[in-house]
Amino acid sequence: MQQELKTLLTKVQNPLTHKNIIEDGTLEAIQENDDQITLVLSTPDDRRLQLALDSQIRTALAGSPALSKVKVKFNVKAPEVPKSEPSAPPANSIPGVDKIILIGSGKGGVGKSTVTLNLGISLKNMGYKVGLLDADIYGPSLGKMLGLSGRQNIDVQNDTIIPLEAYGLKVMSFSFLLDDNQPVVWRGPMLGKALHQFLYDIEWGKLDFLLIDLPPGTGDAHLSLTQMVQNDAAVVVTTPQNVALLDAGRAIAMFEQVNVPIAGVIENMSEFLCPHCGKGSHIFSKGGGSRLAASTKSVLLGQIPLTSELMEASDEGKPLATRKKNSPSAQKVVDAYEHAAQNLLSILAE
Ligand code: ADP
Repeated sequence: MQQELKTLLTKVQNPLTHKNIIEDGTLEAIQENDDQITLVLSTPDDRRLQLALDSQIRTALAGSPALSKVKVKFNVKAPEVPKSEPSAPPANSIPGVDKIILIGSGKGGVGKSTVTLNLGISLKNMGYKVGLLDADIYGPSLGKMLGLSGRQNIDVQNDTIIPLEAYGLKVMSFSFLLDDNQPVVWRGPMLGKALHQFLYDIEWGKLDFLLIDLPPGTGDAHLSLTQMVQNDAAVVVTTPQNVALLDAGRAIAMFEQVNVPIAGVIENMSEFLCPHCGKGSHIFSKGGGSRLAASTKSVLLGQIPLTSELMEASDEGKPLATRKKNSPSAQKVVDAYEHAAQNLLSILAE
């Protein structure tokens, strides 16, 4: 068993040393207690690094049922770095909004809007006040996923716009200004002006998180947004195939170029879950998200399975977490989002 474990662990690469965790001594010990195996890793006090290693270990051991319950413990080696004094809020922060998270992807159709919505619901279920801004001008779909499709009556008071509310989330979308079949022609300065209004003329009230669903790719809207507002972090959504990972890598590079800190990667459609028995099968390649996270020195925040229930929930405008979960696969998806939200919180807390 130990030999098999060690062989699998040679696939886990430390992003700091670019060596595997056995080679560079990160793996301090393998403890066996009755049936429980615990890996003890020695790392600096760096939660991002710990999460990156933990997710790579889960992926490396996923194929071996005997090793899937292995626990990981971290021994912090370096002394704690003193935290700096809290600074004044930056000039371009939105009044009342604590943290702004950009959700991006290298290309369309990878599930960016689905992830934005369900991550928002998980954060709301943890007790946070959450707003969603659908800035995906080319395919605004967040409204529809919340049962608010097509043009909506927007309430304007004292020159400020009141966002709509659904399932305890505040929501604003370009789709509320358009009829369902109307083409989207926002470009350049007009787009910038509309985005500015969406950020600053909306009465968001007190929010812990504003999640912004960006258009796919690396175009105008991204640059406008990064210049307009203090972005606290970006989350990049990808699917596991190599071709999607290349695009996601470009999205990460774009955020880095405009100095938006990357909170991490969410791998969507990581495995297909059978709606009847909940058993998973990797219909695309495996472990792509953790490889992308390791190669870009970011963190794999979560892996969301592919299920028909998630797609149906979006089509029906009723998010999965708000429905009765009467199948193991639906429960697994909700748990996966909760796990990703918890990882995001711990990265942001640093
Ligand atoms: P994007 O915002 O990247 O263009 P969407 O979030 O609109 O992608 O998702 C595209 C389609 O894929 C939608 O029909 C959505 O319901 C479906 N989808 C996304 N993620 C999943 C998933 N994990 N399981 C099943 N269907 C999904």
